Amino acid sequence: MNKKTAHELKTLLNKKEISATEIVKSVYDQIEKYEDAVSAYVTLTKKHALAQAKEVDEGKRTGPLAGIPIAIKDNMCTKGTLTTCSSKILNNYIPPYNATIIDKLDQAGAIMIGKTNLDEFAMGSSTENSGIKTTRNPWNLDCVPGGSSGGSAAAVAADETILAVGSDTGGSIRQPASFCGIVGMKPTYGRISRYGLVAFASSLDQIGPMTKDVRDCALLLNIIAGYEEKDSTSAKIEVPDYTKSLVADDIKGITIGVIAELMGKGVDKLTKEATEKAIKLLESKGAKIKKVSLPHLKYSVATYYLIAPAEASSNLGRYDGVKYGLRSKETKDLITMYKNTRAEGFGPEVKRRILLGTYALSAGYYDAYYLKALKVRTLIKQDFEKAFGECEVLLSPTCPSPAFRVGEKANDPLSMYLSDISTIPVNLAGLPAISVPCEIIHNLPIGLQIIGKAFDEETILKVAFTYEQNTGWHKEKPKIL
Ligand code: GLN
Repeated sequence: MNKKTAHELKTLLNKKEISATEIVKSVYDQIEKYEDAVSAYVTLTKKHALAQAKEVDEGKRTGPLAGIPIAIKDNMCTKGTLTTCSSKILNNYIPPYNATIIDKLDQAGAIMIGKTNLDEFAMGSSTENSGIKTTRNPWNLDCVPGGSSGGSAAAVAADETILAVGSDTGGSIRQPASFCGIVGMKPTYGRISRYGLVAFASSLDQIGPMTKDVRDCALLLNIIAGYEEKDSTSAKIEVPDYTKSLVADDIKGITIGVIAELMGKGVDKLTKEATEKAIKLLESKGAKIKKVSLPHLKYSVATYYLIAPAEASSNLGRYDGVKYGLRSKETKDLITMYKNTRAEGFGPEVKRRILLGTYALSAGYYDAYYLKALKVRTLIKQDFEKAFGECEVLLSPTCPSPAFRVGEKANDPLSMYLSDISTIPVNLAGLPAISVPCEIIHNLPIGLQIIGKAFDEETILKVAFTYEQNTGWHKEKPKIL
């Protein structure tokens, strides 16, 4: 049962052929079997999950996702359940409230299986920056699952959950989805409330679905999207029924732009070939293919690594040993307590980002770095606007290569940062994008990225669904299973 999608399980549940308890048990059985090898979860909530499953079976817990297991990235607040951000500094933090999406999932009847591992405070591309443990890629346990939502991606790929949610600041949903052979979507900035998502870089962060296929992605997006007054950046724009976009081969006449800058130097040969094959397939279904150039994309990574650390340095100021989590025992005076708490609590990458960000925002450097980065961000946004003047969606590989090996880039932050070269521009422009599995190279999956206009998740779902239904890569499973 744990191998099935949410929509398949929903059908079986409706026909009363299976029970929610059986589904939840099958997921925990899988966790029991594979979690030692994969390490996707930080916390499991088995007792609570089984109690909720019983409620579903007794008809006391209902809703569109009643009885469907979901894994939650551990940077989303869950009332009464540890929320660590995979950081030592929050190793004992139990939120007194739920993130909006947790309440929405609860109202829909979904069942939380546990909280998943991430790069500390979502800073990273491999989960190696986790202060707790490194998650492994179920396709090859010597490889990383990607990051920062690596735990969620690995849990879905290993059938240790049915659905998952992640957060994406520069690629953290799409890149691990690509590395683990699953579907991952970063919706438009503002589409989903960020209330209760622990902030990394507030102008870039967005929550999104991580699922086994495109239909599940639409189902989950239906539940978690929408305006919420507690998040002033969430958009007051009506949420359509995304499952209506799931019409295969309905892409005749759609213009798809292929981003030249993301198909050139630095993209691994086989990844490029797989992307070209995907383009041909979409063309054969009636889409018009157009090569587009976004000349400012080459500045995306540099721009991101000024803006994201600047915002992070401000957001992380709240961890001072007073209000949350860890407090150092060295407390001879207040300043010493602050210093030691942060020295002990934050890992090296988080410290690096705080240093970078504080520097970029400091008097004398603000104009030269931070302000300049904001201006380049506008140029990147304008590049996208221009491309969308002539195309409905844009396309690129999600990542320049398949998953890399654990340790391969751990001591080389720059090469790690470059693994997000195709995903970062989308966050800077606030646009929606999806990654769908599009090939398996040497037993490692890769992803195809489809980018849409702001608040047009429907068209990217339509193109993604067409691609998926004509290929079937999403049905492939890691060999260890
Ligand atoms: N890998 C990027 C970073 O390290 C993006 C992370 C994310 O999207 N949360 O910042």
